[in-house]
Amino acid sequence: MPDIGFVGWRGLVGSVLLERMREEGDFAGIAPAFYSTSAPGGPGPSGLGFDSGRLGDAHDVGALSRHDVIVTCQGGDYTRAVHPHLRAAGWNGYWIDAASALRMEPGTVLVLDPVNADVIAEGLARGRRDFCGANCTVSLLLMALAGLFRAGLVEWMTTMSYQAASGAGAAHMRELAAQMAAVGEAVRAPLADPASSALAVDQSVREVLADDGFPRSRFGAPLAASLLPWIDRPVDGGRSREEGKAFEEGNKILGNEPPVPIDGVCVRVGSMRCHAQACTVKLREDRPLDEIEALIGGAHDWVRVVENTPEATLAELTPAAVSGRLEVAVGRVRKLRMGGEYLTAFSVGDQLLWGAAEPLRRMLGIVRSHLGEAGARRPARAEAA
Ligand code: NAP
Repeated sequence: MPDIGFVGWRGLVGSVLLERMREEGDFAGIAPAFYSTSAPGGPGPSGLGFDSGRLGDAHDVGALSRHDVIVTCQGGDYTRAVHPHLRAAGWNGYWIDAASALRMEPGTVLVLDPVNADVIAEGLARGRRDFCGANCTVSLLLMALAGLFRAGLVEWMTTMSYQAASGAGAAHMRELAAQMAAVGEAVRAPLADPASSALAVDQSVREVLADDGFPRSRFGAPLAASLLPWIDRPVDGGRSREEGKAFEEGNKILGNEPPVPIDGVCVRVGSMRCHAQACTVKLREDRPLDEIEALIGGAHDWVRVVENTPEATLAELTPAAVSGRLEVAVGRVRKLRMGGEYLTAFSVGDQLLWGAAEPLRRMLGIVRSHLGEAGARRPARAEAA
């Protein structure tokens, strides 16, 4: 029975991961242990149908190195602090990680198995031990348009994202809700007065957004009733780091050589959960729309094409409609005025599912099968460090 250590399970990604594992019965046949960076010795997660015991110290390299697999959703700082010491101590187990810290390391495989099962299988066969989920927006982009990439139709692509607050973590999600509550409180009086004008309501909103007491410590600015066209730190070429990931991680997931140019603008919007993105694709050749929709919709089991009508779009292609669902929705598929090789599409997916937890959950299943098949080739455990 494989020993699996879980770190970062109480954050947004980690709690969705545990919930999905519970739903799918994934805890059967494994020996799980739970760790914390903030409350070692405290009680483990509840509601899993078994006693999860006391939390280990997530910085205890000796305890971690006893596991065949470590799954971490804790964050990049944690990965940078612990992973090198574990490897230096001789730990040869499988590291499955939601964070970005190791993603672009040459020995790391990015996991999104409906799209790159071949790249994952090759990595396992070559003895790779570090497997990371990709950036949530990138994973959702590839889940949405895998059919076009697989058919070799994408010459280049731009993406304009509309990213939910939860993409930044639990504390940010709470701050957006607190901002919404502050806005709601500010407009209570003008809304209650049927004689008040829309401009009076707007004035109340503007005043509360500008108020020094408006909650903004996480985002640095009002997100409710606004949007933030910068995510993460600046990198080269005037890009944000988030914008650079579509090209870097997207091509690494696909194993593209040469890489396909992908670039665009990433924007944080006031949705709670689910990232959306508008894509412009330059196709290598003109193909009829019905053929393109069939390629998109037939790529794997978790993509659904939404009819390009106002009714279907509003009913099925919004964060509110998609939240909590495993299917990634792709709609507004049409040709642009620039010509038959220019396609636009809009996609929405739950970034906590296929953008984060689900690729990790499935990678754990793939590793378990690999360990089962490998039998005697199970990773040698380090001597207790
Ligand atoms: P998060 O909600 O902030 O949780 C990360 C860790 O922070 C938790 O596991 C917990 O660790 C600690 N923590 C501190 N205060 C907390 C609070 N109030 N509630 C819950 N946990 C708290 O971050 P996340 O969004 O899950 O992201 C985890 C990693 O996944 C990051 O590297 C992120 O970049 C990556 N990722 C996130 C998304 C997404 O959509 N959010 C998508 C893809 C990848 P302890 O229990 O050890 O204290």
